[in-house]
Amino acid sequence: MAGTKTFTMIKPDAFADGNSGAIIKMIEEAGFAIKAMKLVRLTAENAGGFYAVHKERPFYGDLVKYMSSGPIIAMILEKENAVEDFRKFIGATNPAEAAEGTVRKLFAKSIEANAIHGSDSDENAAIEGSFFFSELEKH
Ligand code: ATP
Ligand code: MG
Repeated sequence: MAGTKTFTMIKPDAFADGNSGAIIKMIEEAGFAIKAMKLVRLTAENAGGFYAVHKERPFYGDLVKYMSSGPIIAMILEKENAVEDFRKFIGATNPAEAAEGTVRKLFAKSIEANAIHGSDSDENAAIEGSFFFSELEKH
């Protein structure tokens, strides 16, 4: 059975552009409940650890630089079928391929600076949520 939690980050480009409020409003209107939230700035080491699965990819160095370039907002979200529904809600990695009305279609600048993250499995949602939040912070 699909899980009810996912993890997201509003990425540095979207935060810097002042789009956090609009994105959080969209998230809530789409039926995701915010269970934990914080504003943080990742070090390059933090970002490298978070995206370690991509360390062999050619874009890894740039991705680490970008994800540590400014503050992000990390959140744990709850909804039925959370992971799949949220991936649909944010749209394709490349905004040029993202469906109309998705967060990335509306706010992403490029395949790298693509406004928002969404976990890709229940297992990763749990790992990523615990990367940012202690048990006390998960409501
Ligand atoms: P995320 O994990 O951030 O939700 P995703 O699952 O849609 O995004 P991944 O394949 O996991 O995409 O890639 C992680 C992130 O790495 C992307 O969101 C994007 O910021 C960056 N990225 C992915 N592919 C490329 C690429 N070809 N060139 C530059 N950056 C890329
Ligand atoms: Mg991913």
